[in-house]
Amino acid sequence: ALIVRHRMRSSGRWARAMAILREFEEKCGTPIGKLRQVADAMTVEMHAGLASEGGSKLKMLISYVDNLPTGDERGLFYALDLGGTNFRVLRVQLGGKEGRVVKQEFTEVSIPPNLMVGTSDELFDYIATELAKFVVTEGEGFHLSPGRQRELGFTFSFPVKQLSINSGTLMTWTKGFSINDAIGQDVVMELTKAMERKGLDMRVAALVNDTIGTLAGGRYFNNDVAAAVILGTGTNAAYVERAQAIPKWHGLVQSEEMVINMEWGNFRSSHLPITEYDQALDADSLNPGDHIFEKIISGMYLGDIVRRVLCRMAEEAAFFGDTVPAKLKIPFILRTPEMSAMHHDSSPDLKVVGNKLKDILGITNTSLKTRKVVVELCNIVAMRGARLAAAGIVGILKKIGKDAVKEGDKQKTVIAMDGGLFEHYSEFSKVLESTLQELLGEEVSSRIVIEHANDGSGIGAALLAASHSQYNDIEES
Ligand code: BGC
Ligand code: MG
Repeated sequence: ALIVRHRMRSSGRWARAMAILREFEEKCGTPIGKLRQVADAMTVEMHAGLASEGGSKLKMLISYVDNLPTGDERGLFYALDLGGTNFRVLRVQLGGKEGRVVKQEFTEVSIPPNLMVGTSDELFDYIATELAKFVVTEGEGFHLSPGRQRELGFTFSFPVKQLSINSGTLMTWTKGFSINDAIGQDVVMELTKAMERKGLDMRVAALVNDTIGTLAGGRYFNNDVAAAVILGTGTNAAYVERAQAIPKWHGLVQSEEMVINMEWGNFRSSHLPITEYDQALDADSLNPGDHIFEKIISGMYLGDIVRRVLCRMAEEAAFFGDTVPAKLKIPFILRTPEMSAMHHDSSPDLKVVGNKLKDILGITNTSLKTRKVVVELCNIVAMRGARLAAAGIVGILKKIGKDAVKEGDKQKTVIAMDGGLFEHYSEFSKVLESTLQELLGEEVSSRIVIEHANDGSGIGAALLAASHSQYNDIEES
């Protein structure tokens, strides 16, 4: 009788755990009709954000990039790419149309976590020091024309109100950065002052978002690139807009086009499937109320959503036994790469899942049935993110009139993609691409190409530094 009672109790627990899972699944639902609403809302918000400053949660920032790389860029240029837990510095020797990228070198440095929440001077001093160390290793194959100052393209992947091609003030931090005294400051000035403090003589010729860098880098190699999307720690998109279609842009229109940094991470719509777990994650985040789209899509957050659901199942349905595993309560302990590893576990007994649960969360002796549920949960969270990202892309295609087939228009539309989530979470990228097809239909989607622009943002920033070099006016062509 005792055993039976125990069995009943444990089957009651299981039923309760499954109820929590199913309810979450239902709230995360992205049926095609909902995705169409999200895509439409994205297009509407794009119009609103372009119409007036503050017209939408979508900031639709003017990048001051009105000419994309042509291939004629020449000379030695540096780039600095800051936007996640690592930053990269690189140098490229550009050889014009014949030579293209003659030579390139880079190094990657991780940012000590305390610097992500410290002061502006500390962060920029650290960066300038690493940059200076890299510059002194400049060797064979790189040539700076005599008498010239070195120039740099600065990829800074946070929302910036751009004031010109090489100045702009930080609006807010995202992705776990929180350095209050930098907000409202011109980040180019901050970097320039730090370089001066470190005795490094270099001019910032271009300040760009990573989406803009990726778009520029993509266009350099492929003329059909019209937009760029980053799916990494954070998420965002940029695209080429007609200058005429930007009512809020009162600057001198010297060109017919302007690249727009959408900051789509901050997109909001009542059509978004938001759960109580997402709300709790947002409330606990460093930027509550902001970047809601990003918080249900990007790599910084997916693992933590999974953790939050598991935690509820442990607390309310004793999913991992009588006690709630203590580590399950630690925010961000389950990172998205680990979630991805569990999601892709193809071993029959889900060995990877078992090991991750043990190593990361200290949960031992899980049953196969339990591990299957964990995989299912990863799938629910990743699918929602990938399908919403696809809907966002369709919103952009609608805005630029590429969501339907036009008579005689044979041109491909290429979207340059980058970021760890896109690159390494293959279930995510697979679903993103199949959802695009589902939304666009076969004929249209055969003209849309998703291209992995591997680390294109660094090269892109260097190319934009080249085309905005202080020496361009006097340079013989
Ligand atoms: C930032 C964007 C950036 C994106 C991808 C977001 O958190 O706001 O500026 O492009 O992350 O790195
Ligand atoms: Mg990469």
